[in-house]
Amino acid sequence: MRNPMKRTFNCRCCGHCCLSLIDAYNGCVSDADLQRWRALGREDLKAWVKTLDLGPGNQLHLAWVNPETGEDVERCPWLLERLDRKGFLCAIEEVKPDHCRAYPEHPPHAAATGCSGYQGARR
Ligand code: SF4
Ligand code: SF4
Repeated sequence: MRNPMKRTFNCRCCGHCCLSLIDAYNGCVSDADLQRWRALGREDLKAWVKTLDLGPGNQLHLAWVNPETGEDVERCPWLLERLDRKGFLCAIEEVKPDHCRAYPEHPPHAAATGCSGYQGARR
């Protein structure tokens, strides 16, 4: 939801990317994500990932999968609505998956996918 590397970007915390873009909340996480969480002892995050073994050196880490039911989630389990109900927050902002961290990739990507974070940004 926020990428500090993009100086002209200002996340509105609207939650659109987490709520509406399927890759954001229900896709795959990377090997690097899992390694990072392992190093941090974040078993609670790993518990929501289901790894499919597709052959030697070929794994797919599906996220997010409810550890109790084994079902794909319908909404990211880490998305929190702000108390004032004026937006959303990521409960795992500091360690969120790479694909969340990378969104949006650039202004045209934001515009094409409904993110308003570049609108009105100072250059
Ligand atoms: S859609 Fe854009 S502005 Fe809205 S929460 Fe996601 S990154 Fe932030
Ligand atoms: S992990 Fe955080 S940034 Fe990624 S979809 Fe969930 S709430 Fe949004």
